[in-house]
Amino acid sequence: MEITKLSEWINSSSRTVFLGGAGVSTESGIPDFRSENGIFKALEKYGRSPETLLSHTYFELRPDIFYRYYRENLLVTDAEPNPAHYGLAKLEERGKLSAVITQNIDGLHQKAGSRHVLELHGSIWRNYCVKCKKAYGIDAIRNSSEVPRCECGGMIRPDVVLYEEPLPWDVFEEAEREVREASLLIVGGTSLSVYPAAGLLEYFRGDHLVLINRSVTAYDSMADLVIREPIGEVFSKSVC
Ligand code: ZN
Repeated sequence: MEITKLSEWINSSSRTVFLGGAGVSTESGIPDFRSENGIFKALEKYGRSPETLLSHTYFELRPDIFYRYYRENLLVTDAEPNPAHYGLAKLEERGKLSAVITQNIDGLHQKAGSRHVLELHGSIWRNYCVKCKKAYGIDAIRNSSEVPRCECGGMIRPDVVLYEEPLPWDVFEEAEREVREASLLIVGGTSLSVYPAAGLLEYFRGDHLVLINRSVTAYDSMADLVIREPIGEVFSKSVC
């Protein structure tokens, strides 16, 4: 019933935008380090919360431990896209979807074939030297044992937004524009409790807002449709 409604809106919408969070990737087996379990595991093993381990301050203070945690929890490179990623890529190919805005850093949307992906928190696939800015691929991180170093001696870091760091302004601005111009906004796999996803909703002026999330969000009452099913299933049924 709800999925039929979603398909109808997708078909009739002139401009659809998708905004997604960690829940999109958990169905591909990528653990959410912000989940209760993720926080528990970090505290147990490192004596610190993910928020501390992945902060700018901690990265500068203890890059060795930062990288240990990062490699174990964020550097997931063998995951495969799920039906949500593929459904979105298909919609873009048909000219139905103008952008995917994501808080995820795993590159799975691109792997599924999406082209216009706005990564609010960066990507594990891009890395650079903090000193000379030389760009590195993922192997620079994967193939080094401790702290990865550039030829110039500088530290290589992932192009990922750490806690305490600002979002990439140009990406955020583009995301804001996409949301403002969308007639259908589908928000999935996020509880909308974290900035900036929640903030982006404020810009929406279109016809229909759809929320796909397993749990209740603060924005449920604002939505025209709320779907509680797993997001992969929703997309495999609504996009064929
Ligand atoms: Zn360098």
